[in-house]
Formats: sequence, C-alpha cells, structure tokens
Amino acid sequence: MGKSKSTSTLGLLLFGLIIAGIIYVYKSSSFERDKAVITMQTNGYWNLKQSVGVDITDESGVKSYKILLKTADGESVITHEQLIEPMKTLHLDIKPPRSAYSLKEDSLTIVVEINDASSWNFMKGNFVRKEFEFIIDKRRPQTSILSNSYKISKGGSALVIFRATDDNLKDIYIESNNNKKFKPQPFYKDGYYISLLAWSLKDKDFKAVIVAKDYAGNIKKTHIPLYLKNKKYRTSTLKISSRYLETKTAQLAEEFVETQAITDPVKQFQIINEVIRGKNEDLIRKYTSVVSDEMIDDFRINKMYPLRNGKVAAYFGDHRYYNHNGKRISEAYHMGLDLASVAMAEIKPQNGGKVVYSDYNGIYGNMPIIDHGLGLYTLYGHCSSTQVNVDDYFSAKNVLANTGKTGAVMGDHLHFGVLVQGIEVRPQEWMDSKWIKLNITDVIKNAKEIINKS
Ligand SMILES: [Zn+2]
Repeated sequence: MGKSKSTSTLGLLLFGLIIAGIIYVYKSSSFERDKAVITMQTNGYWNLKQSVGVDITDESGVKSYKILLKTADGESVITHEQLIEPMKTLHLDIKPPRSAYSLKEDSLTIVVEINDASSWNFMKGNFVRKEFEFIIDKRRPQTSILSNSYKISKGGSALVIFRATDDNLKDIYIESNNNKKFKPQPFYKDGYYISLLAWSLKDKDFKAVIVAKDYAGNIKKTHIPLYLKNKKYRTSTLKISSRYLETKTAQLAEEFVETQAITDPVKQFQIINEVIRGKNEDLIRKYTSVVSDEMIDDFRINKMYPLRNGKVAAYFGDHRYYNHNGKRISEAYHMGLDLASVAMAEIKPQNGGKVVYSDYNGIYGNMPIIDHGLGLYTLYGHCSSTQVNVDDYFSAKNVLANTGKTGAVMGDHLHFGVLVQGIEVRPQEWMDSKWIKLNITDVIKNAKEIINKS
C-alpha cells in the first residue's frame, strides 16, 4: 500500500512538472510561435536607383535574414546575415541588385526570408518567407512645352501649355517661388496640360518649373522660359480722418469679434486693416484656389470691363500707408482695381462663369466671386446688393450686382479683383484685348496647331 502510494505521488509530481514545463514553453517568449512580420516600404514600383526599405519585427528577435532576387531565371541571393544578437526590430535598405538592370522583364520579385530566435520547433525557431513584386520603371516622365506667354510682369499673369507622359505618372504640377504650386488642367487631348501662372506682387522674383513625378520616384523638372518684366507699383499715403474713424471704423468695429473690447479708434482701425483684412483675404484665397480636373477643349475670355464708364479710383498693387494726424498708423497692399461711376451703378461682367461666393466678406463688403475656369476668378467688392446666389451660373453681360459702400470704403465704388489660383493679379492685363490675344488666345492657338500635327 505504502509503496504504491509513494509511486503515485511521484507520478503526480512528475505529471505536474510536465504540465508546468508545457505551460512555461507556451507562455515563454523564448518559445514564441509567431513568425516575423515583414513590411516592405513600397507602392509596387521601383526605379532601381534608390534603395527600398524593409522593416522586420519579431517577439523573440530576428536571428538571420536572407534577401533574394527572384526572376524568370530563378532566385539569387542579394544579401544574407546571421545576427550575433537577435533583434526585435530590424530595418534593412535593399540596394537595387546590379543584375536587375539588364532584366528583360518589366517586373521582379524580392524575397525576404527570416529565421527568428525562438526555441520553438525543436530549437529551430519560426521561419517565414515573403515575396514582394515590383514593377520596374527606370524612365523619367517626358515633358515638353508646346507654347507659353512670352513674358510675365510682376503682379501679372501668363499661360503655358505642355505635354507630360509616363507609364506610371503620379503627380504633375508647376512649382514657383515660395513653394507655390499651380495645378495644370488636362487640355485638348490625352497627355496635354494647360495652366495659368501668376507672379505675386509680393514676390521680388519669379520662376516656374513643371514637375512631373511617377510612382517609381522618377522626377522630371522643366523650366518654363518666361521673360520677366519687373513692374514698379506705387506707394501712396492715405489720410485717415477723425470723421472716418468715428463713423466707418466705429461702425465696422461693431461687426467683428476682434474689435469688440477695443475702444481706441486707431487700434480699431489697425485691427480691421490688418487682422480682419488678413482673414478676408484668406477666405478669398480659399474660394479662388480651385482648379478642375476635367479636360478642357478651349479657354476663351473676353476683355474684362465690369463697370461702364468706370473711372479708376485706385490702382492694383498700391502699397498704401495710412496716416492719422500726421502719424503712420497702418499699411496694406491694395489687391484690386477701384472703379467708380455713379452710385449704385450696375456691374456687368463681360465673362460668364459659376458663382462661387456671394456674401459679405468684412472689409470687402458684399462680394460676389465668379469662377471663369482654368483657375481664373473675378471678384466684386463693396456692392450695395448682389443679384446672384452661390452655384448660380452667371451669364456674361447681365447685371451681377450694384456698386456700393459696404465694407471699409469712403465712397461708392467697385473693387474689382482678378485672381489666378488664389493669387491676385493685375486686372489691367485682363482688361486689355491685345494682352489677351498675345498671352492667352494665341498661345492656345499655337499649341492646338502643334497637337493637331502630331
Ligand atoms: Zn479697392
């Protein structure tokens, strides 16, 4: 009895030890059964110039790795390594394999094999093999300029039409100063693009470069040859009377949150002229930066002439200094052309388009904005009333609105603004039929002739 009891106790103890051992093996990270996770940093394209990164993570650590190139001819090892210390995370940069350059196929496969440091699987650890297919694209996108405006003036506009082709084209844009990007619109036939350009009045210099990128990371940059015409803009000093501060400024100050707690009329004027103006211009930029992705066949624009018998009351680009009692209190750039005729005169734009905004906009007062396509917009400030609503299609030569004194103004007039992809440009160019013919109509005509011949 005694003997059999001790045997069964020993058996139980042994059984318990085995269970504990199994639990240890199952719970222990040194016996983990998860294969390494392999993440290739790729979108599936490779230009065989840059390295491709691969990240490997494993709980017990990577013990060894092998990178292979797999083609129709078979597999060959690119690199392999046995790590002295297992690594829980490992980053590898796979250099383009030299033998891949001469491949006839337009794709290849990279194989990653990982052994981890786990004691599972009779101490052999977990093994994983993962394949990644790449489309080989060694060619840069091809671009060529078909026609463009001969020159661009400071504060002015220009047009360019070009061709851009690539099997795997990802992105195409025009880069100018201060990282400003212009978005070209598909034009006429597949592979052709058109874009208006604008040299911001606030930039000393101007350059424009077409940037075409493909999915494999190949980049082609093409400089647009434009003769730069520097244009001087005037500076003017505006006297702000006490009466203006007491009436117009005080009245505007009531409207804005920013001026609610301010009692000093000069301070009120400064906030309205700088902070509020900035916000109003941000709104304008937002509504006038949109360019369609749709292919356009043509782009026609009539000479702009929004106000009959409108006399110029202030020019575009004036750098204005504001004085009160002989002291400079503020400054700003005037980003439109002020035209005045009779009070509440009818505004009849010569070009149609979609109304994208028709509401009050701070110092600009009631302000409709029309989208003429190709990123060209016109805006009409200080209106007494507008005859259109957002999303209306405005037909050319109809009454859009009436001039007025809404916003920060002294007298009844129209503030006429022209914008190219969110940048204010000289309205005078668009009010000149010769300029339009030379810089827009003829450029389009030339490009179409080239496209039709090709
Ligand atoms: Zn104005």
